[in-house]
Parts: sequence; C-alpha cells; structure tokens
Amino acid sequence: MKHNSSDIIILGGGLTGLTLAYLLRAQEVKVHILEAKERLGGRIYTKYPENLAPQEMGATWLGKKHTALVALLAELQLGIFEQRMEDRAIYEAISTSPPQLVTLPHNPEPSYRIQGGTSRLIEALTNQLEGTEIFTGQIVEAIEKTAEGFQVNANLQTFTAPILVSTLPPHLLTQKIQFTPALPDALLAVASQTHTWMGESIKVSLTYEAPFWRASNLSGTLFSNAGPITEMYDHSNVEDNTYALKGFLNGAYYAATKEERLAVIMGQLRKYYGPQIEKFVTYEEAIWREDPFVFFPYPAHVLPHQNNGHELYRRTYLDGKFFVAGSETAAQFPGYMEGAVRSANFVAKALTAHFSVSKAN
Ligand SMILES: Cc1cc2nc3c(=O)[nH]c(=O)nc-3n(C[C@H](O)[C@H](O)[C@H](O)COP(=O)(O)OP(=O)(O)OC[C@H]3O[C@@H](n4cnc5c(N)ncnc54)[C@H](O)[C@@H]3O)c2cc1C
Repeated sequence: MKHNSSDIIILGGGLTGLTLAYLLRAQEVKVHILEAKERLGGRIYTKYPENLAPQEMGATWLGKKHTALVALLAELQLGIFEQRMEDRAIYEAISTSPPQLVTLPHNPEPSYRIQGGTSRLIEALTNQLEGTEIFTGQIVEAIEKTAEGFQVNANLQTFTAPILVSTLPPHLLTQKIQFTPALPDALLAVASQTHTWMGESIKVSLTYEAPFWRASNLSGTLFSNAGPITEMYDHSNVEDNTYALKGFLNGAYYAATKEERLAVIMGQLRKYYGPQIEKFVTYEEAIWREDPFVFFPYPAHVLPHQNNGHELYRRTYLDGKFFVAGSETAAQFPGYMEGAVRSANFVAKALTAHFSVSKAN
C-alpha cells in the first residue's frame, strides 16, 4: 500500500475543502485533499448537457447578503446573474382547487446564480491549487491519532499528516469514519443530530428548444402545495439562448423509479402548460439521499438545519490538531455555500496563525 505524507490533510473536495486549500496556498505547507468521488464539488454539481442550458443538480442560488461567497466569486472573476422570476407565478394552494396565476410582489433581495453554472466555482478554485495534491476516489474509512499526528486510511491508500481538517457533513463524518481514539461523546451526540442541508432533496430539470412558457405569458415560476413538484423556476442560461425549467420534487419520491418520477412530473406540469411540456430535450434528476457521500440515516428525527453552526464545531479535537469544518459547522449561514466559504475562512485563519507561530519558533 502507498503511503503519503503532508502537512495538512483535508477530507472532502467540496466547496469548503477546495476553498480552504485555496486560502492556504500562500503558506508554505503541503496540502492533500482526499475526496471519495471521482468528481469534485460535493453538493455543488452542474450538469452540462451538450449545447443545452447548464443544469444545477445541487447548490444554485446566492444572495448579496452572502458576503464571503460574493467576495470569493469576485476574486475568482466569476460573474453572477439574477434569477429570472418576472412577476408572475403559477400557484397551486390545494389539490382540490385549480392552479392560479398570481402576481408576485417586488422582491427587494433577489436571488442570483453563478454565470456558466455553480460548478464554475469548483473549477476556478481547483485551477488555483497547483501546489495541492488532490486524491479522488479515496473513501476515508478510519482515522488514527498517532504521536506524530494522524494516520488516515482510505479504501485505496494511507495518508499521514500532523494536522487534519474534515469538511464532511458532521453526521456523515461521525457515522461513517472510525476514530481511534474515539471523538468526545459531546461532539458525537451533537453530530449525530446535525442535519445535512438538502440531504433529502430531489432536484429535477427539463431542457427545451424554446421557452414556450414565456409565449403563454408565464414566467416558468411555480409554487405548489399539491405537488409533487413543490417549486420550479426558469433555468435558462445567462445568455438566455438555451432554455430549461428546474425545481424540487417532493423528497418522498426517492423510492420511485426514474420513469415513475418523470410520469408524475409530466402529469403535474401538463395541467399548467399543456402537451408542449412533453417536448423536452433532456430530463435530469438528482436524488441526494441516495448519495452515500452526502446522506446517512439519522438515529432520531432531525429538523431542518438542526445543530447547524453548533459552537462545538469551532473547537479543535485530538490534541488541538483536528478541525471539524464544512458548511454545517459555520457560525453564520450554515448549510449554504456561504457557510462553506465562512467555515473555510475560519479554519484558514486558525491554521495561518498556527503556521506563523511554528515558523517564528
Ligand atoms: C439539492 C441541493 C440544493 C442546494 N441549493 C443551495 C442553494 O441554492 N444555495 C446554497 O447556498 N446552498 C445550496 N445547497 C447547499 C450547498 O450545496 C452546500 O452548503 C455546500 O456545497 C457544502 O459544501 P461542503 O464542502 O461544506 O460540503 P460537501 O459539498 O458535502 O462536500 C463534502 C465532500 O466530502 C466528500 N466525502 C464524503 N464522505 C467522504 C469520505 N468518507 N471520504 C472522502 N470524502 C468524502 C463528499 O463526496 C464531498 O465532496 C444545496 C445543496 C443541495 C444538495
């Protein structure tokens, strides 16, 4: 088995892990990122169907209040654009009444999307990580605290470093990775009840040759209490020359087949748009609870965002050398992309201080 050593190991190649490595690149330290999948980005996942609008299967929207993310995007020279909403939406209050066309009030804080797709952020960060070695396909299974630091056993290789940062959702970290010695009980108790944001969600998208809904004076926005699609939006590209609709499907449909899901989606959308809804070019879906590197069942029911941003996540463990990072751990905006960037900023600051002291000595 190959043995790899570095100064810092970062578990997870999602937004937190990649941003942290990006922030540490000015330090003269060797960083290894271990990612279970072959794909980087974690819960950021844009699909790029050929010659069609990029489709966000994971994180999509940000607001101007997400100042850390906005600053990072500006630094990486990535543009944002406002989510197309117009002022009309289809609204279905209850299954026993027909859907209505409603006028939306002015939104003083609109949502924005990243030009070219959210995965452009992952690519831009990765392009800046020349000095960082990224190992994909490495499913971390066990971590041992040694006299020198940590030994991290992945399915393929073993890695060692004096400092270790996890960016996995805390529940996943503590349920899937075996620690020797065990992590403190208080941390385990909180982590087992820390909700992984959007872990149960289902995203669905349909691409079209033309935005036919606009010709019918519709915006593509819909809100439905009857479902199974609960909300949907125009998901055309920033140039507005490739077109799509994208939304959330009721999470209970995870156990259905793809064909069954598509059938109920068509049944619902036909009510609003007529038979032209059937003429889609591609149908994409992401069933996030089926992703073993995002979702793991909880021992007891958890509420959305439960324990997100808990103060135990801003302490260090195992002789002060183990950091529990990731979006869910951030003090502000936990669960969101903003939380991921803030978490990376927080750990980068602590590590930068640590390395300055080490150099001074
Ligand atoms: C459907 C959906 C919609 C969303 N919409 C929005 C939105 O509109 N706006 C917004 O701000 N946020 C949104 N989010 C949340 C946003 O995606 C997350 O906050 C952010 O991407 C989290 O980044 P992270 O790096 O902290 O965690 P993750 O992206 O979860 O990264 C953790 C990484 O660890 C890897 N990993 C897991 N287990 C192991 C292991 N054992 N060994 C090695 N690697 C492992 C994973 O593969 C993953 O790459 C959405 C999420 C989803 C799923």
